[in-house]
Formats: sequence, C-alpha cells, structure tokens
Amino acid sequence: MKPVSIEVIKQKNLLINWGEDTITKIDLKKLRRYCPCATCAMEREKESKTFIPLYTSDQIKVFKIFEVGNYAIGITWKDGHNTGIYEFPYLNYLAKENNSLK
Ligand SMILES: [Zn+2]
Repeated sequence: MKPVSIEVIKQKNLLINWGEDTITKIDLKKLRRYCPCATCAMEREKESKTFIPLYTSDQIKVFKIFEVGNYAIGITWKDGHNTGIYEFPYLNYLAKENNSLK
C-alpha cells in the first residue's frame, strides 16, 4: 500500500490519495499527537487518560514532508520536530475514523 499523492490542506489536514478513488484525511493535530518517534511515544506512555494535549501553532503546522525509502514519509513540523517517520500502514490506521488509539 503506497499513496499516489500526499498533500497538506490549509494547514489543517493531511490528504492522502491511495489511488483507486480512495482518499483519506488526517487532522494535523492528530498526526502530531501520534507522532511515532521514540520521544513522543514515551510522552504518550506517561500521560494519564485525562491528559489534554495542548499545542503551539507551530507544532501542528507542517513545514515539509519528505519521502523515507519506499515505505514511509517523514514530517518536519514548523517547530523543527522531524524525527517522526510515518509508515504508510500507520497513516492508513490514523486516517480511519473512530479508531481506538490510546
Ligand atoms: Zn515525535
């Protein structure tokens, strides 16, 4: 599974075209919140269920998207954070409504 195109819409959503009329979108806040890098994963571990994530606007603006091999994209956020590598199946997972991510 590999996207045909990936586009940031109005600094609000990531629009992914998977081909064959399948287009999914992910809210950038959600994308940042579920950044797969080790640091962010550790942060999420520590949070309680009542944790409310707060972001500065730079943390949820995409500065740059880059390809990683043939299997993922990396995102450089406007605050400089760029260690999250989003594999395509993970993007697909995040894009699904009502998924049960902690
Ligand atoms: Zn991260």
